[in-house]
Amino acid sequence: MGILEIKGVGKRFGGLQALGDVNLSVEENSVHAIIGPNGAGKSTLLNCLIGKLIPDTGSVMFDGQSVLGRAPHEINQMGISRVFQTPEIFGDLTVFENMLIPCFAKRDGAYRLHAFETIPAEKEIVEKAEAMLEDVNMQDKIHMHAASLSRGDKRRLEMAMCLVQEPKLLLLDEPTAGMARADTNNTIDLLKEINAKRDITMAIIEHDMHVVFSLAERITVLAQGTPLVEDTPENIKGHPKVMEAYLGQ
Ligand code: ADP
Ligand code: MG
Repeated sequence: MGILEIKGVGKRFGGLQALGDVNLSVEENSVHAIIGPNGAGKSTLLNCLIGKLIPDTGSVMFDGQSVLGRAPHEINQMGISRVFQTPEIFGDLTVFENMLIPCFAKRDGAYRLHAFETIPAEKEIVEKAEAMLEDVNMQDKIHMHAASLSRGDKRRLEMAMCLVQEPKLLLLDEPTAGMARADTNNTIDLLKEINAKRDITMAIIEHDMHVVFSLAERITVLAQGTPLVEDTPENIKGHPKVMEAYLGQ
């Protein structure tokens, strides 16, 4: 049994079958990539995992519990955090204040900005946020406004905002989309660091093969809403079915 078990998941948008019959198991503490051409259904699948979409058929079990029918914040509280395609940080707030938001969200099940008023009493949360910033080497930027951070540091802060929730599963939707090669490589290194330091499962949706082959232990190839093959990176490279799916794009 994997930490995430997707069985027979289907999702239709009007006349379009975006997901057919998706079966996928993500093993605990692994890095599992889901790849596939544009329109394959990757984001739709991810949205079914975090409660933004409800599949028409099938089941999604996380850590032994069904996520279906739960609101996004409840799924977050179960231990799933998500890194967005573009950094979702609050530019007007400091790095430290940004870190508090996911902490309160995890505890209270909602993003409540007025929770800041209670900060002095929240010793445990403050310490956790500071420790996490140290972990990603941002302790010297703690009082900077998030808007003034470099692009790479914004991404670093965003990862820290997910990790401070101590998720069991980190979902990443094209974490390097739109990045220059140097930033992409920094993100790969950061994810490797994170993976080495803590017990965490990562599921990455990614278009960039360089990222996929640098990080993933298992790869599922999705094409037209259905898993085509699942294997190790070595076996996926040059797999005729995979070549065909990409060439057909
Ligand atoms: P990917 O992330 O692999 O590029 P998506 O999951 O975004 O693919 O999309 C899969 C298919 O479903 C595409 O054909 C897309 O146009 C369609 N689709 C996605 N979301 C919606 C929606 N909310 N309404 C209608 N069609 C959608
Ligand atoms: Mg997508």
